[in-house]
Amino acid sequence: MRTLLSARAALLLLALPLLAGAFAQAQSAGTIPPSVDPELARYIGAIRAIDNHAHTVLPPPNDGTDREFDALPVDNMEPQTDPVVLRDSSPEVSAAWQALWGLHETAPLSTAALQRVQAARAAIKAREGVNYDNWVLDRMGIATEVANRVAMGPGIAKPRFAWVPYDDTLMFPLDNSALAAATPDKAQFFPLEAKVLQRYLQAATLQHVPATLGEYLSKVLLPTLQAQRQGGAIAIKFEIAYLRDFNFASVKQDDAARVYSTFASGGVPDVTSYKLLQDFLFRTLCQEAGRLGMAVHIHTGEGAGSYFSLAGVNPMLLEPTFNSKALRGTNFVLLHGGWPYVHEEGALLQKPNVYLDISQQVILFSPQLMSTWLREWLELYPDKVLFGTDAYPYTPAMGWEELLWIATHNARETLGITLTGMVRDGVVDMPRAKQIADMVLRGNAAKLYKLQ
Ligand SMILES: [Zn+2]
Repeated sequence: MRTLLSARAALLLLALPLLAGAFAQAQSAGTIPPSVDPELARYIGAIRAIDNHAHTVLPPPNDGTDREFDALPVDNMEPQTDPVVLRDSSPEVSAAWQALWGLHETAPLSTAALQRVQAARAAIKAREGVNYDNWVLDRMGIATEVANRVAMGPGIAKPRFAWVPYDDTLMFPLDNSALAAATPDKAQFFPLEAKVLQRYLQAATLQHVPATLGEYLSKVLLPTLQAQRQGGAIAIKFEIAYLRDFNFASVKQDDAARVYSTFASGGVPDVTSYKLLQDFLFRTLCQEAGRLGMAVHIHTGEGAGSYFSLAGVNPMLLEPTFNSKALRGTNFVLLHGGWPYVHEEGALLQKPNVYLDISQQVILFSPQLMSTWLREWLELYPDKVLFGTDAYPYTPAMGWEELLWIATHNARETLGITLTGMVRDGVVDMPRAKQIADMVLRGNAAKLYKLQ
């Protein structure tokens, strides 16, 4: 394990944006991992990336109280078994503290060491002010970060940041108490979703949801999507995996409208009837987002919390959605690569409008392990795989900055290992390997979202 980590640390150094010096040093010191071709490592390290998915936190003066980096920012869920990399004792984060704050600290941090990390971060925030988030991106060689937020704010703007708002709440306009009773996690999630819906209703100058589904669509759902598009959104996001399963049926509007009008003014819908309405609204949201030129981001794979239902979010359950002729004008991006369903998710890239990103995976898994399934995806559909991080303010010692650093550097190393293997096995030549690296780190996202 130690050998593995020191090899990873060496490649992380290679991947710094201004890496010529570090690269030359590593080369002469003979510390380049043999699994990565030096020429590829240098090339990949210099690519200015587009991060398809991150939970960006506002820079000063608005940080500290900012909670809009998630529609479900739950702080006190019942404990789960954290993956090793997210534990206080994770060795991964030391390299991030060193690169970002110039500190040589070892996890787990003592109280005094945590104060040093926080003081170093605060000093740079004070120096950079509203430019702080741009400064963070510059440390990672990231040109543009796709920020998944309820709303954007000062200091996170085009061209360095693009917006993806949350729209799960538009699928749940009725009394959600029966759904919230299902698990302790959902008991926290649904009131948070209701707050977001209240915000969207206020923007539509409404106090309650309208009486009929037709009015709900014309006065709430469509105007919200239009406002998001006008506000610069390039996609909408579903965290639906935290709220229900992926089994979205094709439901006639009349059937959904009956459920809606029965319960819009009160009463708790039974779970089966409510599902009809949710299914209809999900597909409507996807269709309208596509019509407005926005992609649809869907959380796939494992999720936080000890009550998360992995069986319900097998991406294969989305196949009928992807096979809907009415939704072929909408591009879907499956976030986080879908582990443990990595093979299923890769197979779904055959659909012309389905993509996936490697966010979160590049935090949780070693490049050596992750490269095994990344190779599968890149051999088949290299034009459908997007770099992403899922950087998130996790703990005081592990903020979105540290996770962004870990994810970005692991992603470059994972790509390096994967493409080196493909070159050495004669699957692609070196020029094509470089081209694929460009596509994954930047080109595929630029094309999908029509970014510069
Ligand atoms: Zn996320």
